[in-house]
Amino acid sequence: MDAKEPPPRAAADAAPAVAADPPTEPDSPEVAASVADCPAGDAQWASLLASNAAFVAHGWRPTLAGSSVSSHREALASGQSPSAVVVACSDSRVSPELLFARGLGELFVIRTAGNTAAYASTVASVEYAVHNLGAPLVVVLGHTGCGAVAAAVATAADAGAMASQPSTLATFVKSTLLAPVRAVWARGQGVVDTDFVAACEAENVATAVRSLVTKSTWMRKARARGKVKVVGAMYNVAAGTVKEV
Ligand SMILES: [Zn+2]
Repeated sequence: MDAKEPPPRAAADAAPAVAADPPTEPDSPEVAASVADCPAGDAQWASLLASNAAFVAHGWRPTLAGSSVSSHREALASGQSPSAVVVACSDSRVSPELLFARGLGELFVIRTAGNTAAYASTVASVEYAVHNLGAPLVVVLGHTGCGAVAAAVATAADAGAMASQPSTLATFVKSTLLAPVRAVWARGQGVVDTDFVAACEAENVATAVRSLVTKSTWMRKARARGKVKVVGAMYNVAAGTVKEV
């Protein structure tokens, strides 16, 4: 595979945040499968985990770059340069800016029920933030006690479990969230207990990570070049902690 690896980026610090995507580069299987080191993404991930630890220890402390709120807003009016993209669940207990102790302009957040990346609107939003805003890190953030995953687990056990729900919601659960549950079931974790649900929540995150790089040719190439780090993580709603999964 070494011969197929793209050359290392020279002078990464001086490189423009938005690099042109060579239109003729073949999307070979080697490129699709390869993940290059991304020091900028690693650094941002370490920073977010440190901020989460501070959130757990001290509560929310938004960082505003030493500026007053109003001057910080005024500075941001000319543009944004978020340090990370977060694909999180819409659950009201899972606010990325709060649990990562970040302020305005620091995180580019996409939230959907069940933190899924199955749809073009999510994938396109991630592409925009990485390609146009230069964010070197994408975090898919699942969480404990996810109602969307619980609905999929219930549906796996009883196909009629969503019968009383609005049709679009029921269809969404069946078409998008059921597959990770079935994947866990197929691995032999056939007892529906708290461990099974936790495995489904982790598999749902892994599925979204895979979706981002299988549905986006640009993201595959960016990851293969070390332009972006894509990581899956789990937020514990009781403890407040974020852990990579
Ligand atoms: Zn959720």
